[in-house]
Amino acid sequence: MKVEFHRHAMGEEEKAAVAAVLDGLFLTTGEEVYAFEREFADYLGVPFVVTVASCTSALHLALLALGVGPGDEVITTPMSFVASATPIIHAGASPVFVDVEPDTGLLDPARVRAAITPATRAIVAVHLYGTMCDMVALRRIADERGLVLIEDAAHCIEGSRGGVRAAHLGDAACFSFYATKTLTSGEGGAIAVQDEGLALRLRRLRLHGIDRGPAERHGKPYQHWDMLELGHKSNMTNIQAALLRPQLKRLEERHRRRETLAVMYDRFVEGAPWLTRPSVPTDARSGRHLYTVWTEPHRRDALLAFLGANGIGCAVNYRAMTDLSWFRKNVRNRFDLGHAERIGASTVSLPFHSVLADDEVQSVCEVLERAHTSLR
Ligand SMILES: *Cc1c(COP(=O)(O)O)cnc(C)c1O
Repeated sequence: MKVEFHRHAMGEEEKAAVAAVLDGLFLTTGEEVYAFEREFADYLGVPFVVTVASCTSALHLALLALGVGPGDEVITTPMSFVASATPIIHAGASPVFVDVEPDTGLLDPARVRAAITPATRAIVAVHLYGTMCDMVALRRIADERGLVLIEDAAHCIEGSRGGVRAAHLGDAACFSFYATKTLTSGEGGAIAVQDEGLALRLRRLRLHGIDRGPAERHGKPYQHWDMLELGHKSNMTNIQAALLRPQLKRLEERHRRRETLAVMYDRFVEGAPWLTRPSVPTDARSGRHLYTVWTEPHRRDALLAFLGANGIGCAVNYRAMTDLSWFRKNVRNRFDLGHAERIGASTVSLPFHSVLADDEVQSVCEVLERAHTSLR
């Protein structure tokens, strides 16, 4: 049996929603986008959501709008996708990588505190795999030291920890609607914020820094629009928003399905002493974006090859960023990153998504069992 790493769950409702946009006037940012922004803000329990073209762009605009720029240091984790750190560099600031907690793979607040210098301006926390960082601890550190706290919540739309959800304690939380994420429009992103002024600034920055987009101008007597600051081109289209809105209603149901699948995988991993898995703190509800196992580094690549050869789609989320060529060449590490490097060399992500079938999970586990015997 071939088991895909990821499959989307778009259906008739999404097709009809896109058809309705095509029957209308506005393909680009308009009512459909504004409706999604309101609905997503309601889902998250925050006052403002600003949609953008990607999570990468969301992080970049959030850093700019919160005043992070040249000369600033931004503390973050090396155990994430490169897009958690590249926006820091594009903003003109420097990433300072600190090591992660060995059991969760998440940014370690104690190490964040120890890495603060007079140049530190912000923290970018990543809710890896769907499990939230200790945002209460990070918020306390940020408040004590006057730092900006940004969440990369690309994995964590549905998660919470100690009753706190993504976007509740950060100055800005950034989401991804990339093809493999739990809410997707193929590509897309959003920034959730508490502050209205910040939301308005982000709306301007996402569209060239101009004061009114086409949808605000349409149907009114012509008025000149103005460019108030140097902005970017990162707005979401009505077509993307049409794909996203029906999925919002199914987020919780699909999360429940992934919880069930995670329990099935957990049972297998608990009986396989050669595999471990990242732990989820007892007070956390994981967003369950990925199902990742850790194996011994010396046989990780052989395991990936074995799974692939047997029709099991897999991925690595992630090798430590600091082990990638560009970062090796261009970013000098100030701290030991041993846990992140070891996790990065141990990681295998298994097929995991809300339309995965029970017998597909069984197939994956059978192939894992065979891999263990033949790779011994
Ligand atoms: C997917 C992802 C991103 C980037 O999202 P895009 O929407 O593709 O820009 C950033 N951070 C993490 C942790 C991700 O998984």
